[in-house]
Amino acid sequence: MKFWPVPESHSRRLPQGGEPGSFWENRDDRYHCGVDIYAPKGSAVRAIEEGEVIDVGEFTSPEVLPYWNRTYYILVRHHDGVVSKYAELEKVNIRVGDFVRGGQVIGLVGSVLNPEKITETSPSYIRRLKENGNQSMLHFELYEGTPARPANYLGGNSFGGKKPKNLLDATSYLKDSAS
Ligand SMILES: [Zn+2]
Repeated sequence: MKFWPVPESHSRRLPQGGEPGSFWENRDDRYHCGVDIYAPKGSAVRAIEEGEVIDVGEFTSPEVLPYWNRTYYILVRHHDGVVSKYAELEKVNIRVGDFVRGGQVIGLVGSVLNPEKITETSPSYIRRLKENGNQSMLHFELYEGTPARPANYLGGNSFGGKKPKNLLDATSYLKDSAS
């Protein structure tokens, strides 16, 4: 059994086919590496299924881009070797080496963008997000094995059109947990 990762999400309908937040969405200068699940800031995020926490770290920070807030990611390795990434979290409740149960709360939904720091010189995609009301969400990625850290990957997007090695489309994995 799989658990939907954000019980308080606005909807359990997954964005797809190029919609905002869908996997490999074309965002002008970047492609989206995950699937976005929109939810109020501070919503509990739970592990979809059991696994071992293999990494926790900073996902975005104002030191990297001035219009970013500080958010975190968690990597969980599952029994079949698939690794899930929970990102854009404002808080993390677990540590590397922990085993988590399916349904266990592991963090809280955060918000990446700081609208006050977005200017006319910010990328068009970022300006559009501000105009659309800067939503908070869980950014979820899925990998076949441990994620590589390609230089063209930043903040959940890939620049230059090349898909990161062993990145999977998380849509069907998430769909299994939606019912
Ligand atoms: Zn995303």
